[in-house]
Amino acid sequence: MNNKRTMPKIATVIVEIALNREFDYRVPPRLQNELQIGTRVVVPFGHSEARGYVTGLKETSTYANLKEIRDRVGKSSLIDNRIMELARWVGEYYAAPLEIAVRTVLPSVVRKKGSGFKERLMVFATEAGGDLLTAEALREKAPKQAAVLDALRSGGQTFLHHLARSAGASDAAVRALEKKGLVTVSREAQMRDPMKGQNILRSLPLEMMPQQTDALNAIVQSVDTLKPPVILLYGVTGSGKTEVYLQAIQHVLKQGKGAIVLVPEIALTPQTTERFRGRFGDEIAILHSNLSEGERHDEWHRVHEGKARIVIGARSALFAPVRNLGLIVVDEEHEPSYKQDETPRYNARDVAVMRGRMEKCAVVLGTATPALESYYNAKIGKYGLVKLPHRVDHRQMPMVRVVDMRIEAEREGHVNVLSRELAVAIQERLDKGEQSLLFLNRRGYSTSLICPKCGFVAECGNCSVAMTYHRQTEKLICHICGIEKKVPDRCPNPDCRDPAFKFVGVGTQRVETIVQKFFPKARVQRMDSDTTTQKNSHWKILGEFRTGKIDILIGTQMIAKGLHFPNVTLVGVIYADSNLHMPDFRAAERTFQLLTQVAGRAGRGEVKGEVIVQTYTPHHPAVQAARRLDYEGFYDQEIEFRRELSYPPFGHLVCLTIKGLSEDHVRLSGEVLAKQLEPLMPKQVILAGPSPAPLAKANNYYRYQIILRAPATSMMTNPIKNVLKTFKWPDKVSCAVDVDALSLM
Ligand code: ADP
Ligand code: ZN
Repeated sequence: MNNKRTMPKIATVIVEIALNREFDYRVPPRLQNELQIGTRVVVPFGHSEARGYVTGLKETSTYANLKEIRDRVGKSSLIDNRIMELARWVGEYYAAPLEIAVRTVLPSVVRKKGSGFKERLMVFATEAGGDLLTAEALREKAPKQAAVLDALRSGGQTFLHHLARSAGASDAAVRALEKKGLVTVSREAQMRDPMKGQNILRSLPLEMMPQQTDALNAIVQSVDTLKPPVILLYGVTGSGKTEVYLQAIQHVLKQGKGAIVLVPEIALTPQTTERFRGRFGDEIAILHSNLSEGERHDEWHRVHEGKARIVIGARSALFAPVRNLGLIVVDEEHEPSYKQDETPRYNARDVAVMRGRMEKCAVVLGTATPALESYYNAKIGKYGLVKLPHRVDHRQMPMVRVVDMRIEAEREGHVNVLSRELAVAIQERLDKGEQSLLFLNRRGYSTSLICPKCGFVAECGNCSVAMTYHRQTEKLICHICGIEKKVPDRCPNPDCRDPAFKFVGVGTQRVETIVQKFFPKARVQRMDSDTTTQKNSHWKILGEFRTGKIDILIGTQMIAKGLHFPNVTLVGVIYADSNLHMPDFRAAERTFQLLTQVAGRAGRGEVKGEVIVQTYTPHHPAVQAARRLDYEGFYDQEIEFRRELSYPPFGHLVCLTIKGLSEDHVRLSGEVLAKQLEPLMPKQVILAGPSPAPLAKANNYYRYQIILRAPATSMMTNPIKNVLKTFKWPDKVSCAVDVDALSLM
């Protein structure tokens, strides 16, 4: 008897149409050598059949009478073992069904039926067909066939559809020639290249600054020895982080390994991709949502086949099937956009760390303003820490001035959009032909109440977050603990008592109107989600700004990130407080990050930059720390606040949002859910709610939240998964689970 390796008899399969379950199927003998984890299969399911993926292979099953797998789909497995393991982890950790997690790791363009390479028929002349005499012999009886041979003789191999155009010949003529053995027709995949038509300048590694060399050495050591496996690269804007990434990747390539670089979608500009393409040429694959489906499909397969070893892309590029991964870079690691806002609500930065651990590859988290969680992890030694404290060439950091808008309001008798200081500063830039950026964060709903006179903000005494103003009911609600208060008719500050206690926010559009009126000759442009609805329109506006066709650019966070405009010498922040009063314990952190990022846009050229921050709370620690560009100071203060209230990084947070068209149904379901959860939770878990979400109604859906905090996520997610498995929701009511939620709106 030969000692044959045992063949798996059973495969576990998830199907695309069923919920979080794996099903056992028998593997027919003819498929026993064909199945691996990740192979797509067709299985009998109910009364019909379904497509799914193999998630595991084993010898036995506890079920009797198993059905048999019908067939496999496609030539190669699209998900390998490691990516499947990662999908499993994502599903577990973020409490999402496995098959949704699997869908997340495979882009839909790759997964879809019928998706494929764009195949073109290529026509070659055979030796006989290439002979001039052959063509002449055909000239009279079959002039079209002769024309095809002529075209092939002069042009070599040609696409069939080109032939039809150039030789005026139909497919039939080519097929006739094929039959006679005068030409061959073959299929060839044609790659759709998203960078086609762009002239990329090759770039050589720059001579590094000493601080960059130190950073590179630390990363190289991490790549080689995994000591430490994760490095936080904390470098001010313009400190040369990108050059460090480039040279670290070069090292990885030399070892025959691959790399993934994640950047926030919004920073994935042609500028960024060109820098990588310029250094690595065709080794780079680009994955982001601005590509056509065909381009995304082909880029993904270039990675899958190992033709491109480096992937640069937004969030989901983390799941790219790079082989033999040596390094993952997460740039701007603090960015909330790394969090997906639909199931599974994963944070690509955190999953990157997990993928790194699973594949034994180094992970670098880069930023000018580390997320509190990341800096904390660095401080306790979980991550390595490397700092780049200076700009390249020691260009000076900008001067930051804080303008107290309360004084301004008093002086002018009313609330202005542009303070006198900011107006003067803009005028100076216009006179000198320099550019200004005006930044307004309009994403926050201006739902918190603020006194324009003294800056008092209505806060919840229990939770240290701003209370949310609910216009419909004229109430202030704390959405962490649910406490309610009546809206006071005057400022509650006993030293103030001003009756004007209410703040109505301004939007970018209003700022644009006012600025244009103030500076009638200036070329003013607004950039926000309203002016950039068309594909590429935001790159177009940025292009005009770069080439000096705009004097003053007004925008939302879109203009805060990663842009490099040497002629911008002034950045104005219209209203620094709007983030500050978001009903979120991360409000101060977001404010500090944004102010620092925005400030980083000023003075990237020869002239020193200036930043003017308008605020009603000039003494707020986040504003003051941003003024001094003092991350450490901010961190030290903020981390104490987090520690006291057991907010992340001291423990984890899960937010359950219940949505529905009937408010009664939503509230009641929330109450029942909370009641069922409570007895199952370990006692370290703090459960609050249900209470109306700050965004209490969206698209006609009422929203309620239950917020849980605990030292470990599994303490919360295990009971949640258990309860949700059987929970009976009323019609049109649903619940979203957000583990490590970043937004509590
Ligand atoms: P960051 O990513 O930290 O914001 P960049 O890598 O974009 O910084 O660098 C800022 C600018 O400095 C870029 O124009 C880059 O080409 C340039 N630069 C980076 N490193 C060097 C270096 N060692 N020598 C000269 N210029 C450099
Ligand atoms: Zn509260």
